[in-house]
Amino acid sequence: MKIIMLGAPGAGKGTQAKMIAEKYGVPHVSTGDIFRANIKDGTQLGMEAKKYMDQGLLVPDELTVKILLDRVAKEDCKRGYVLDGFPRTIPQAEVLDKALTELGDKIDYAIDVDVPDENIVRRMGGRRACLSCGATYHIEHIPPKAEGICDACGKELVLRDDDKPETVQNRLSVYHEQTQPLIDFYGAKGVLKTVDGTKDMKDVFGAIVDILEGAV
Ligand code: ADP
Ligand code: AMP
Repeated sequence: MKIIMLGAPGAGKGTQAKMIAEKYGVPHVSTGDIFRANIKDGTQLGMEAKKYMDQGLLVPDELTVKILLDRVAKEDCKRGYVLDGFPRTIPQAEVLDKALTELGDKIDYAIDVDVPDENIVRRMGGRRACLSCGATYHIEHIPPKAEGICDACGKELVLRDDDKPETVQNRLSVYHEQTQPLIDFYGAKGVLKTVDGTKDMKDVFGAIVDILEGAV
């Protein structure tokens, strides 16, 4: 099962992707998480990516496509995967499409988690992330058990630099210009499914499971 999560930054792609990955036993592949891990480790790739991420801009396709193709070529992705945050541009989608076609393979579902911009700004301001294990919380909607501490690994939770209000607006503009066209791209391929991302996270997940199990 090969799934792409589409949607604005903060729509809940990562939250849902992790739940899908757990239920169906496939890896959750997040290019944002890969970049953040590289920043934390101080790698060359991390330093390059940070320049763009801090401004709310996309990391150039040349860098992003390579890390994604390397990741999905790994053994654990043979049975499928959930892509979260990739593709974010039409050229990225075309490269992925070509790589899959060469393997006689394809994307099964592109799930658009639909959330209006007004809700996004509130979501991002309340998001708290664990830079150690990648878990995410929301101070109102999905709080950790102990304030500021990751339930999963006990490390400190932070407001990501790129979740600060001034950067969120840039990320939303970039989303509308460069990423939203992917909705039509996957619509034309007949694999697009849309879920209402403003609902409670369990209801959003229920709608996704119905799609994946062919009920919708
Ligand atoms: P994305 O991966 O699309 O950037 P996240 O999954 O990190 O988004 O979600 C953004 C923020 O919104 C997080 O703080 C998350 O806990 C919260 N969130 C996710 N899904 C919902 C939901 N259905 N309702 C309310 N808050 C949500
Ligand atoms: P995310 O964790 O998905 O919200 O991504 C955080 C940031 O990482 C984005 O705002 C981009 O700067 C960068 N990024 C993640 N995935 C991609 C991608 N597919 N293409 C370009 N930049 C990306």
